[in-house]
Amino acid sequence: MRMNIAIDGPVGAGKSSVSDAVAKKMGILHLDTGAMYRALGLTALRKGIDTGDEEKIVGLCRALKIGVRHEADGQHTFVEGEDVTGMIRTPEVSMAASTVSRYAEVRKEMVRIQQQLAAETDMLVDGRDICTTVLPNATAKIFLTAAPEERARRRWLEMKEKGMEEPFEKVLEELKARDEQDMNRPVEPLRQAPDAVLVDSTSLTFDETVDAIVRIAEAKRHG
Ligand code: C5P
Repeated sequence: MRMNIAIDGPVGAGKSSVSDAVAKKMGILHLDTGAMYRALGLTALRKGIDTGDEEKIVGLCRALKIGVRHEADGQHTFVEGEDVTGMIRTPEVSMAASTVSRYAEVRKEMVRIQQQLAAETDMLVDGRDICTTVLPNATAKIFLTAAPEERARRRWLEMKEKGMEEPFEKVLEELKARDEQDMNRPVEPLRQAPDAVLVDSTSLTFDETVDAIVRIAEAKRHG
């Protein structure tokens, strides 16, 4: 039977890096769905299309070919065949991704692609609506979160390591704004699925978080 692990959670809960490590440990691929919304957000910014204009963004989404490929160093994300992996992690693209992800028709298209990918192979999928919408029948469902200040601290450190120096207060503010937008949008807002297991990583190390999730996933897989 196909094994799918679904992980949802808010900004900066460590979903991407934790998901990478869990998938590696379990010998399966990791699909980072946020990268797909980011690719759309980036393209809107590049083309000068207002992310608040639903009609234009839906049109752009339908016209674009967004794809992912798994390579030795992880997931690469493509727009019309161009590898945009290195361009989608800026704060501007984060906010643009959050805005374009509010639109029902955009979500429908992204969910369709994600379901197709997850049906092809055993896969861990992380995002905001994976447990609730993309993979409601996943083998294991996890809601990974942490306190906002801790999530902002981790995001701030991560950005600093990449040479993006931002004041901590600004990172915290942006994180809260994105939480607010993701949790209060009318279409598929971020929420914990009733049958998802809550993992709060506020006082866990990275390795402890990974181990906790692997344990839950293995128990579901064999149970
Ligand atoms: O996970 P990441 O921060 O890369 O996601 C960027 C944005 O894309 C999120 O703020 C969220 O608004 C949106 N997103 C979503 N559904 C997903 C993954 C991401 O709405 N499954």
